[in-house]
Formats: sequence, structure tokens, C-alpha cells
Amino acid sequence: MSTPRPSTPPLGVADALSREATEHWLREDDEARLEALWAAADETRRRYVGDAVHLRGLVEVSNYCVRGCTYCGIRAANHGVERYRLPADVVLDCARRAVAFGYGTLVLQSGEDYGIERDWMADVLCRIRSETSISAITLSLGERPDDDLFAWREAGADRYLLRFETCDEELYRRIHPDLPGKVSDRMAILRRLQALGYQAGTGIMVGIPGQTYASIADDIELFRGMDMDMIGIGPYLPHPATPLGQEFERRRAAGDWPLEQAPNSESMTCKVVALTRLARPDANLPATTALSLVNKAGGRAHGLQRGGNVVMPNLTPLEERERYEIYPEKAAVHETAEAINGSIMALLASLGRTVGVGAGGRGDSR
Ligand code: SAM
Repeated sequence: MSTPRPSTPPLGVADALSREATEHWLREDDEARLEALWAAADETRRRYVGDAVHLRGLVEVSNYCVRGCTYCGIRAANHGVERYRLPADVVLDCARRAVAFGYGTLVLQSGEDYGIERDWMADVLCRIRSETSISAITLSLGERPDDDLFAWREAGADRYLLRFETCDEELYRRIHPDLPGKVSDRMAILRRLQALGYQAGTGIMVGIPGQTYASIADDIELFRGMDMDMIGIGPYLPHPATPLGQEFERRRAAGDWPLEQAPNSESMTCKVVALTRLARPDANLPATTALSLVNKAGGRAHGLQRGGNVVMPNLTPLEERERYEIYPEKAAVHETAEAINGSIMALLASLGRTVGVGAGGRGDSR
């Protein structure tokens, strides 16, 4: 798909690479040359956010979703999904476990589920605040109205994650259909979140069918100008029960890719993480679960060695976790929270990295 280049632009620590140089590096496939990119990203990470890896305990609160995202396994039209919504007491138990494991942040994620009512979530947030000593709470509940976002901020939420997925408008509209009468404008929601005092996070998927090298270079330029606290970057993973997953499989079988298609590989994802680290030296960049799936042996380690400084261990109870299948084989679906925690701690020790203490917001590491 990509063509090897005769030479790659030089790199320095916290290099302000031009957009052209960024795109050049995205196309670089020579492993020996890529070592220079990995090293520059790792050194920038070390210099700006240190060796601490911040752990964010992830709780998948509900897999109900009103949306029809063509990439996502829990889209409304997937009737093969057994739906669940965790009771408040279970969410509270997960929060206590996060504290017991020493995680600074609890992340509450769900489909865009209006069965999660404003007051219910506000009450859960107040309870987490009063009944546990968690340092920070992040929400990732989709494109909720301002009144909800305001109430949850008041109730104790600190951060909100909303990936814009791709800056290619046409591609975004195709994979993320609007709800009736409501145009999806995630950039506008991100600005509102910041105005409400949230630390905002965004991100993209890498290798969406139809996504080009040039458009990913544009995504990285957007990150450069956005002042986000967290940027999540993971490979697009085709889910067979989704329209995009089926398109991916048809194209894969026929070798029929759009011109300039960016691959959804581990290496491509790592290039995007590394270049994002150079563009936003002090941002929090997770080594994503999706990345750990495309290379089960080394994906998470590579994420942490090529720019990443955050991991999100899953705390969702096992029975529900296997029903939150946004992509197939979500990592560690059958592993208990203890087992996941143990393997992450062992990984950090083997990489010579420490566990972050406290909230681990942007700027807290220095
Ligand atoms: N509903 C919220 C939202 O849309 O922001 C939060 C949950 S959503 C499942 C979280 C993220 O999962 C999305 O932003 C998307 O990037 C990622 N995701 C969903 N399906 C995926 C797939 N097939 N491959 C990789 N990432 C996927």
C-alpha cells in the first residue's frame, strides 16, 4: 500500500515537524529508519511527561447505544448484542477496586445511551466522590446535550473523552451517521467541554477503509492545534457484524483498497502515536487496548515505548465485559481485573517505567 521513500526528514526531540514531514514519516516502512522515530518519540515522552505511566480504570457502564456508527460492534442495529446497563452499586464497586489497585482515574464509558439519565449519572458521580478516594473521574458517554455535560461536571466529573475519529468530513459522515435532526459536530462538543471546565480528550482510529495517509497527517496537524489533555489513537479493528467490517472483509478478500489507503497495522498506529507525541509533547497518550490486540505479544509495550504514557486497565465485571464488544476479541475479555492489573504491573517493571500517582492530568507529571 505504501511506497518506500529514499530518505526521511530528520528528527529531534519535540520536533516541530512540518505537515509534509509528518506525512513522509507516515509512509516510512523501513524498520531501521523507523527506529529514529520511535527513539525521538520516546525521548520526547520521557522529557515532557516522565517515566510514570498513569493507569485509568475503565468501567463500561452500558452497551446500549442509539447510534449507527458503521464501525462499532455495539451500534443500535446490531441485534445480536445482549444489552446491559450496570447498576449504580456495581459502578461504585468498580470505583473501589480502582482505588484498591492504586489507579488515579476512573473512566466511565458507554454507548450513547439515553437510558443513562442525567440525574442518575450525577448521583453516581456524587457517590464516587463521597464514598471513594479516586483522584479523577473521566466520562466517555458520547454526544450528550450541554445540560447533561454541565450537570456531570458539577457532580464531580473532571474529564471527558470524545474522539473525532477522522478529520475527513466525508468519511466521518459515512461511518458516523447523524441522528435524525441532529448533526454530529464533535469539534464543537469538545470546545464546549473545555468551556465547562472539563479536561478534554479526543482521538482517531487508524486504517479506517477510505482513510488516507494525507488525512492522517491532517489529523496530527489538528491535534497540534487543539490543546487536548488526552489523545487516544488505536487501529480500526473490523467487526464482522458491522457494515464497515463487512466492507473491510470484501476489500481484503479482493485486494481492492482505495488509492492511498492507510493500513490498520500496529506499525501504522505506532507511527501516528509517535508523531502525535512530537506534535503534542505534554499530552497524555494511551497505549490503547486496540493496539494491544493487533500485536498481542508486544503491542502495549510498543505503545508505551513509542510515545505512550497511559494504560486503561479494564474493571468491567467479566459477564458484561464480553458484551461490550466494540471490536472482536477485545483484549483480555476473560481475564479478571486482578490478572489484568498483574500483567500491566509486570510490563511496566520490565520496561523500567513507574506507576503514576494521583490524578495524572496533563502537567501533573512534571
Ligand atoms: N459512545 C462513546 C463515543 O462514541 O465516544 C464512547 C464509546 S465508543 C465505543 C469509544 C471508541 O471506540 C470510539 O471513539 C471509537 O474510536 C472506538 N471504536 C469503536 N469501534 C471500533 C472498532 N471497530 N475498531 C477500533 N476502535 C473502535
